[in-house]
Amino acid sequence: MPKIANETDLEYKHRVIDIKSASFCGAKWYNATIWLGSGQTTSCHHPLPHAIDRDEIKTNPKAIHNTQKKKMEREQMQKGERPAGCEYCWKIEDIKTDPFPAAISDRVYKTVIYSDEDLAHAHRTPASEDVNLQTLEIAFDRTCQFACSYCNPAFSSTWVKDIKQHGPYTNLVSDGRNHFTHAHDSSQLYKFGEVNPYVEAFHKWWETDLHRTLKELRITGGEPLMSAETWKLIDWFKTNKGKSTTRLAINSNLGTDVDIDRLLDSIDGVEVDLYTSNESMSLQAEYIRDGLVFDDWANNVERLLDSGRFRGIHVMATVNALCLDSLDSFLEMVMNWKREYGKDAVNFSLNILRFPSFQSLTVLPEDIRLTYHNRLHDFVNGYRHGTEMHEFEWNQLSRLLSYITEVSEAHKEAMSQTILQRDFKNFYQQYDQRRNKNFAETFPALADWYDMI
Ligand code: SF4
Repeated sequence: MPKIANETDLEYKHRVIDIKSASFCGAKWYNATIWLGSGQTTSCHHPLPHAIDRDEIKTNPKAIHNTQKKKMEREQMQKGERPAGCEYCWKIEDIKTDPFPAAISDRVYKTVIYSDEDLAHAHRTPASEDVNLQTLEIAFDRTCQFACSYCNPAFSSTWVKDIKQHGPYTNLVSDGRNHFTHAHDSSQLYKFGEVNPYVEAFHKWWETDLHRTLKELRITGGEPLMSAETWKLIDWFKTNKGKSTTRLAINSNLGTDVDIDRLLDSIDGVEVDLYTSNESMSLQAEYIRDGLVFDDWANNVERLLDSGRFRGIHVMATVNALCLDSLDSFLEMVMNWKREYGKDAVNFSLNILRFPSFQSLTVLPEDIRLTYHNRLHDFVNGYRHGTEMHEFEWNQLSRLLSYITEVSEAHKEAMSQTILQRDFKNFYQQYDQRRNKNFAETFPALADWYDMI
C-alpha cells in the first residue's frame, strides 16, 4: 500500500513527495486523459489539453501519452519547478489558512495511488524517456445528450447543436478561449467510420502491452455509454477475462436515456467503478446540467448501488457559482447513501471549477459567499465527530471552505470580478432563452444580486 498505517495525507506528502522535489506529481508520469477525437492529452483534468504529435504516434503509439510537452514538464517537476499548467494545485497549496490543511492539493491524491517504488523510478528516470501509463482516462468522441452550462461544444454534441441552431453566445468578454462562440469542429477531427490515427494508436498500444501494464482504464466522453467504442471495450473485458488485470472505470452522466439494463448486463463478471457528476439538488441541478432529470439520475445511482455489481460509485461534484446554493443538501443525500449502502460503496469528490471563469464561485459577492461558506461549514461540523467520511472527502471539504472565503481569482489570467459578473449575466440570459430556463426562479437567493448586475 502506498500509505503506511495511520499516515495522514500530509505525512504522506512529507515522506514521499517533498523529498523528491517541491513540485513533484506522479500524475505527470503515470496518469493521462486522452481525447482521441481531437488528438489531445493532458496529465490530469486540471491542465489544459495539448496536441499529440500525429507523426510520432505512427511509429511510437506510446506518444499518445508521452508527448514532448509532458516530458518537459516532468523535467521541471524533477527540479522542483512548477509547470504553469498545474496552476490549480499551486493555488490550493498557496492558501494559508488555519485550521484547514490547505497544503493538500490534488497533487497528493493523484500521487498517492502509485507505489513508492514507481514514484522513485519516475523521479530518477531521465525525463526524455517514455513511461508506461498506470491510470488512463480516455474519450473516444464527444457524443452527449447533456449540455451543462460549464461544458462546451468541445465535449458535448448537444452543445454543438445549441451553437449551430442559435449561433455563438455574444458579449462574453472573459471567454478568451472562445468556448461558447463556435462548434469546436477540431474536437472531432474524423467523421464516424473514418480511420482515426489516435484511436488506432490507442488500440495498438492496448493490444501490445498497455492491457498488461495499465492499472485503471477510465472511459469518459461526452457520454461514453452513448459511444459504440465504449461498448466494444467493455465487451473486450468480458471476452478476455483473465488476460488483463486493468480495472475498468466508466464515467457516465446516468441520464434518463442511458441504458442501465445493458450496462448491468455487460459488466456481469467484470469489476467496474462508476463515476458520475452532479453537485446540486433538483431544479438547480437540472438548470446547471441541462438535459438532466434529477430524479432519474438519483434513481439510476440507487439502481447501481442496489445491484452490488460495482466496486464503487463515485460522485464528482464540479463546484461552480450556482451549486453552492444546494451543495450541502446534495452532499447530505450522498451521506444518506453512505449510511444505507456503506461508506465505501459511494464516495464524493469536489473539483473546484476554474473555466469558464465567469462561472467560478469567485464571481459571487463576498456576502453571498460567506452565507454559503457558513452553510457548508454547518454541514461539515455535523460530521466532525463521525466516521462516515473518508479522509480525502473531509480534506476536500476543508479546502473548499478555505477557497470560498480566501480565493478571489479562479486562475492567473482571470479578469476582474466586475467583468466576470457581467459575463455571468450575459451568459445566463442567453442560456435561459436558448434552453427555456429561468435563472431568477431557479436561484431565488441570487435573484437580487443578479438583477443588479
Ligand atoms: S494539476 Fe496537480 S494533480 Fe494535475 S498533474 Fe498538475 S500537479 Fe498533478
